Formats: sequence, structure tokens, C-alpha cells
Amino acid sequence: MDFAQIKADYDQYVMHSYGRFDVALVSGKGATAKGVNGQTYIDFGSGIGVNALGFADEEWVKAVSEQANKLAHISNLYYSPVQAECAKLFCESTGFSRVFFCNSGAESNEGLIKLARKYSFDKYGKNRGIVVCLKNSFHGRTVTTLAATGQDVFHNYFFPFTEGFRFVEANNVEELKAALQDDVCAILMEAVQGEGGVHPLDASFVKAAAELAEQKDILLCFDEVQCGIGRTGNIFGFEHFGVKPDIISCAKALAGGLPMGAVLCNEKCKDVFTPGTHASTFGGTPICCAAAIQVLSRVTKPEFLQQVREKAAYIRSKLAELPGVHNIRGLGLMIGFDVKGVESSAAVKLAAERGLLMLTAKTSFRMLPPLTITKEEIDAGLHIFVDVLKDARKA
Ligand SMILES: *Cc1c(COP(=O)(O)O)cnc(C)c1O
Repeated sequence: MDFAQIKADYDQYVMHSYGRFDVALVSGKGATAKGVNGQTYIDFGSGIGVNALGFADEEWVKAVSEQANKLAHISNLYYSPVQAECAKLFCESTGFSRVFFCNSGAESNEGLIKLARKYSFDKYGKNRGIVVCLKNSFHGRTVTTLAATGQDVFHNYFFPFTEGFRFVEANNVEELKAALQDDVCAILMEAVQGEGGVHPLDASFVKAAAELAEQKDILLCFDEVQCGIGRTGNIFGFEHFGVKPDIISCAKALAGGLPMGAVLCNEKCKDVFTPGTHASTFGGTPICCAAAIQVLSRVTKPEFLQQVREKAAYIRSKLAELPGVHNIRGLGLMIGFDVKGVESSAAVKLAAERGLLMLTAKTSFRMLPPLTITKEEIDAGLHIFVDVLKDARKA
């Protein structure tokens, strides 16, 4: 099937909820993908921060295929040795007490919100269900996680939205203080706002939030869906700020390309969910757990995280040398930047035509390369990007 036919089938049969690049991918290895017409693409996007180990990682493929050969799915009505191993590895390598498995970022945030509200309900009763979120955040596309998202563009069409979210400006401690009234059960934030433009929080704000939360028995929660699982050079983004959250949500990179989300919590919250209070048919299904074991056993190793930091420093220093590139930000391999005189969406479209897959975040450029990307692949991608910038500037 050639590209035109694939595109025609999408136009006819797939709901038009995405704006897509003119790229159809069929295979890949590492950070290099092959298009349907034989083109090569360097991947600076990892899907959207999903393919942490790149495409077709040998050990990942082996683990997933072996599990598919045994059984892919069993219900959570039964025990799975693979889910047990995955949960143990996840908790022991991160210091959290317990995990709930689900399938996506939005679903993990739904679980996080339910857990926070029930913690508060069990202890204090009704009327303490407000979750304080940040302006410019992104927490997902379900009706509740859209409501939790602090950007007005997402609060349209789908009325009525879920109640119980209050928004404060990121890094504004006074606003946060004012918002933390007696009706609040949790503070939810991204250590690095991803969709909002790749903006890390200020350390002083995060520290203040942690202290205020502690004083009032408000749960400190982080959405680690994009910045977690090694992306920033630590296992989690919040680690950069030296705080200890009560609950976090993960997804994207967790199973290296299979759909998986997770809610992790500390001792304080570990008994909040009781049988029947939360569930997910596919959550923690063995084939996803087998994949996540591969990702977690590697990404949590200090040597692995060290090489993420080294690659991040390398790509950031190369970017800084490019004409017009400024405002390089983010943490580790979660990279945002702007280019003077170049419109990011047009340039990223041109990059895709030239064999480089990149992302935007609002009006900025965003790169989320696989954590296993090689120096050669980084150089090859940047080489394309240099030409793209030249031509995007002329256009
Ligand atoms: C992508 C993302 C989500 C939503 O994840 P889905 O798997 O698409 O539901 C939630 N929070 C953050 C920070 C994200 O980047």
C-alpha cells in the first residue's frame, strides 16, 4: 500500500481528530524509522515520549514475544507472576509503597484524583475534594482530566466538565497559599510542563508547595506521564526538586511502546483503594508488565540515567550553536526551545519531509528522543535540522 492509499483510507474511515504529518511508518530500529515508501527518519520524538528504548529494542522484543507466547492477558481477578515482578521492581527501585496499573496517562491521572479524593473523604468526610492544579498544565483528554488541565482551550464543547479543580499560576507561591483552603485534598503538578511548552517549575515553588501540603495534610501529587521514566536524567522529574510526593501518575514511556499507565503512592495512601473502589480491565496485563519490566530494569540504573544526562548535555550544546536558537529549556532529554524568525509548526512539518521527526509544544520546538538514541543518530538528526532551519527562514 502506498502513502496516498493509506491517507485516503484514514480520510474515509478514521475520525478526523488529529492533524497528521505526511508520514507513514512501517518499521524501525533504535531512533531510526522506515517509511512506507522506503524513506528513513531520525526520531527525535519517541512517539510522544513513549519509545524510551527506541524501536524494536532486542531485549524488549524478546520479552514481549515470549510473554505473547505464554499468555497476553489475564483478568485482575487472578494473580500474575509478571505483574508481581513488575510491581515489586517499580516500587523497590523508586521508593514508593504500592502501585495501581492502568493503560494511559489520562487514566492514571483519573486514578490519582480518585485516590486523593478518597484519602481525604475517608479521613475528613465530604467537602474536601478540590484538587489544586497549575495554569498551563496538561493532564489528559477524558472529561475529568480536561477539567484538571489549566488551559482554557481545553475547556470547550464537552460541557458539563467535572467539578472540583482550582487553578493557580505556576511558581506563584502567594496564589498557591490562597488556593489551599479547607476544601482542598491535593495539589497536582508536572515537574516540567510538557504540552504547556516544556517549562520546568521553580525549585522554590515546589519546595513551598511540599511544605504547605505537609502542614495541611494535603496530598502532594505529580503528573510524571511525560517527564517520568528517565526522561529528565532522573527516574522522575520531581526528584530534581528534592521533594517526596504522596502520589504520582506515569504512562507514556512506562512499557516502551505498549499502552500502560500507573499510579504510585507512599505509605500514607497505600490502603486507600479497597476491593471494588477502582479497577481497569486491561490494567497491569502480563504482556504490558513484561514490557515495563524491560524498561524499568534499565531506566532505573544509575549508568543508564548518567548516559541520558550526557546525551542531553551533548544535544543541548549542539543546539545552542545553531543560529537563532534560543531559550533552550526543559530537563535532560525533555527539550524545548525557540528559533528567531522561524515558525515551529512549519519547520517541524518541513523536517518530517526531510526525514526528521520532531514535536512542537505550543509555539515552541520540542524534542523527546528515545533515551537510547546514539550520538550518530543525534548528529544525523541535527544535520537535517540545520538545513530545515535555513530553508524555513527563507520561506
Ligand atoms: C500525554 C500526557 C497525558 C495524557 O496521557 P494519555 O496517555 O494520552 O492519556 C497526561 N499528562 C501529561 C503530563 C502528558 O504529557
